[in-house]
Amino acid sequence: KPILLWLRRDLRLADHPMLSAAASSGRPVVAVFVCDEVVSAYGAAPRWRLDAGLRAFLPRLEALGCPVTLRRGPALETLRALIAETGAGAVWWSRDIDPQAIARDSAVKSALKAAGVEARSFPGQVLFPPWEVQTGQGGPYRVYTPYWKAVRGLPVAPPLPAVTRLRPGPALRGETLEDLDLGRAMRRGGAVVAKYARIGEAEAQARLAAFLDGPIAVYRDRRDFLAEQATSALSEHLAWGEISPAQIWHAGARALAEGAAGAETFLKELVWREFAWHLMFHFPDLGRANWRAEWDSFPWAGESASAERWRRGMTGEPVVDAAMRELYVTGRMHNRARMIAASYLTKHLLTDWRIGLAWFEDCLIDHDPAANAMGWQWVAGCGPDAAPYFRIFNPASQAEKFDPESVYRRRWLAEGNRHAPETARDFFEAVPKAWGLVPGARAPEPLIALAEGRARALAAYGARGAKE
Ligand code: FAD
Repeated sequence: KPILLWLRRDLRLADHPMLSAAASSGRPVVAVFVCDEVVSAYGAAPRWRLDAGLRAFLPRLEALGCPVTLRRGPALETLRALIAETGAGAVWWSRDIDPQAIARDSAVKSALKAAGVEARSFPGQVLFPPWEVQTGQGGPYRVYTPYWKAVRGLPVAPPLPAVTRLRPGPALRGETLEDLDLGRAMRRGGAVVAKYARIGEAEAQARLAAFLDGPIAVYRDRRDFLAEQATSALSEHLAWGEISPAQIWHAGARALAEGAAGAETFLKELVWREFAWHLMFHFPDLGRANWRAEWDSFPWAGESASAERWRRGMTGEPVVDAAMRELYVTGRMHNRARMIAASYLTKHLLTDWRIGLAWFEDCLIDHDPAANAMGWQWVAGCGPDAAPYFRIFNPASQAEKFDPESVYRRRWLAEGNRHAPETARDFFEAVPKAWGLVPGARAPEPLIALAEGRARALAAYGARGAKE
């Protein structure tokens, strides 16, 4: 009986436990992608990036003799129909651990088992499954450093070779990617983002190799500099499983053994991603509710004209606007810029972190529910192991320190610059006409003077007796 291989955020051939098991089982397989309730709820840019990832990946599976059937509908119902059409005796998938996927997958698993169909999930999304890592007292970690100490010595299985053959099962009729039209909700032309995105497993491997070849040596010292390419840029591939964390982990560990200066810092950053998944698994509300309940009474501002100006990169604070435009144009944002932009929204504008989280979720092609939620709660001060409340990034001094020559700001801001680079002009190309933005206009007035914003935030946070 054939196996249904249910593809999700695992668009690679190498180090893919499910595909390797399918290949060595010798059983016929039918690969499927379902645009289901979880996929439909992704933000606009993630859906666009998923579409692009599928366009790159499907022909590669097909070349192994395994065409992919595309369907649309609720997961369980659609899988049941596929089982009826193919006579499949099993459904396999790679495990996702965001709460929405867990809810869907548990329901699918129990329904299939009840119907006598094998339902099996495979690892690969994380290095250290959250249910396997516990503190000495039992229970999950809440602070990063002890978590890092607990996991850094744990064994990580060496990456599996790429599958080279699969035994095809019955051919099915399905929809095309054009029919599914996953990218349709991208408000701006996906064309602009496409200029900056790099899609697929080969690109992921090329980026990893290029990083190991150069930037890793300066990663520790230069990773915070906004205009430099001192980081790996692997997040957009990790988000869609175009590379596995184990492939990166082993490559980083080799570099460490060979004495690469930034290798340990790099491995630690990769483990921040693991920590985020650890938190999200054990605290599924990480993306919805303040981690510390005492923040529930904090008077966050809700939607406002200021929040809209923040989204549009029109706050009048140059480095914040540059960051928001980088996000809009490329679907990505430098890590330090994410912290500066998030701090400005939650502290200078005293706006609810969930408003920022939702915008990132809609705009990031590397959207990762756990890293995004942890990042926002950390910056806002209400999260686990969070920045203390009085740590308010001053965007101007951050810019001076990490963008001393204004290269980053000039790259993304066109105002007052008749010779603005293509990157900055692309922003005006990408935004909806309704925003009414024109490149030649004067820079917007700041929403709030920095000192005033800081004093207001300190008063609001301090008034609640917020503690470090
Ligand atoms: P590198 O510096 O090369 O790091 C390698 C990998 O380690 C990254 O690809 C990523 O998987 C992981 N990593 C690095 N830093 C972090 C971190 N602080 N938290 C978790 N994982 C990390 N990252 C996402 O992948 N998706 C998100 O949606 C996301 N949202 C964020 C929101 C906010 C408010 C903040 C402050 C951070 C967010 N991050 C998110 C984390 C971080 O900004 C990105 O992972 C990083 O910028 C990706 O660039 P890179 O691949 O070059 O990273």
